[in-house]
Amino acid sequence: MKKKAGRIEKLPPYLFAEIDKKIREALDKGVDVIKLGIGDPDRPTPAYIVERMQQEVTLPRNHSYPPDEGLMEFREAVSRYYLRRFGVKLDPQREVLPLIGSKEGIAHISACFVDSGDVNLVPDPGYPVYGIGTLFAGGQTYRMPLLEENSYLPDLSIIPEETARRAKLMFLNYPNNPTGAVAEKGFFEKAVEFAKRYDVVICHDSAYLEISFDGYRPVSFLEASGALECGIEFGSLSKPFNMTGWRVGYAVGNAEVLEALYRYKTNIDSGNFKAVQYAGVEALDNPKALEHMESMQKVYQDRRNVVVEALREAGWTAAAPKASFYVWAPVPQGYTSTDFVSYILEETGVVVTPGSGFGEYGEGYFRIALTVEVERLKEAMDRIKGVVRFKG
Ligand SMILES: *Cc1c(COP(=O)(O)O)cnc(C)c1O
Repeated sequence: MKKKAGRIEKLPPYLFAEIDKKIREALDKGVDVIKLGIGDPDRPTPAYIVERMQQEVTLPRNHSYPPDEGLMEFREAVSRYYLRRFGVKLDPQREVLPLIGSKEGIAHISACFVDSGDVNLVPDPGYPVYGIGTLFAGGQTYRMPLLEENSYLPDLSIIPEETARRAKLMFLNYPNNPTGAVAEKGFFEKAVEFAKRYDVVICHDSAYLEISFDGYRPVSFLEASGALECGIEFGSLSKPFNMTGWRVGYAVGNAEVLEALYRYKTNIDSGNFKAVQYAGVEALDNPKALEHMESMQKVYQDRRNVVVEALREAGWTAAAPKASFYVWAPVPQGYTSTDFVSYILEETGVVVTPGSGFGEYGEGYFRIALTVEVERLKEAMDRIKGVVRFKG
């Protein structure tokens, strides 16, 4: 076979291959493996959404290609959600674009702005798709370190002038995966100022906007004044409504940016199944959404408390995250991230994610996903406490 394209050959090595092998070995040996690795909600999609899907899927009018720009009903539902939840007014025609899951849009936005040699500003540690999308478009990434001492916000003032001028996109993500950090409106306003000074498009990934604790309510990037002039926000129904398999999300914000993404998408995909878009309308609009969100937040909050408490008992000074369904913690002295994760897996059968999988600044940390029930989580943490005592 001929050599594969550079964009495939240049993909970074799959960091979890070694861990996946160890998981298989443990399972083969009959170990009771507890997976706290992948951030995929364990609870089912709420019944009120499934019921709407059941109705819509039977209707022949939903079986044809959807409109390229998405169903107006879905775009209006997203626009109503932004007004209700954030006080942000969006024109459903020009400022809302449905996506086949937000990952799809995040991966494709670079193709709309980046030519060979252009630069995107990418958080590190971060969701890998920002950098991969950039790479596929022939661009380069400038990694913005997210450091504990800066509350995992990037320090925009250290980005070299020359890099800032060349940059096309800046990716941000709060509440943050993998660190669980949050951003306030003031930070987003600084980002807007930066974007205007250097003519950069902000792409804010809001996947965890509805997953927060102790009454804390994360803000949308679009609440920052001037945000609509220079950026977009990616959103997803996956995490708030346990709909990861349904593939439904959206991009909202600057109309010119969305028009470019729309044009790109019309040439490579044909949109979301109409029945799924109607289920999305139901998810957002039904008054049961509020009830669902509250009970979901309570579920993750209880799980977070179990993990944070156990880490403290084992000697960590872990801060309790205010949002996201992850706990991010340093590995004990003397270990790399992958060494520590392998050690835990071998000794206890518990799977966690090495921070280095999210970028070089993730080295020295690991991530626990709160996507198993409390009893299993307690069991996992008891096993970990049995074999490690944290020393920083
Ligand atoms: C899960 C996740 C997504 C992807 O969500 P989909 O809408 O299911 O594609 C995007 N960004 C981050 C940070 C995530 O963790």
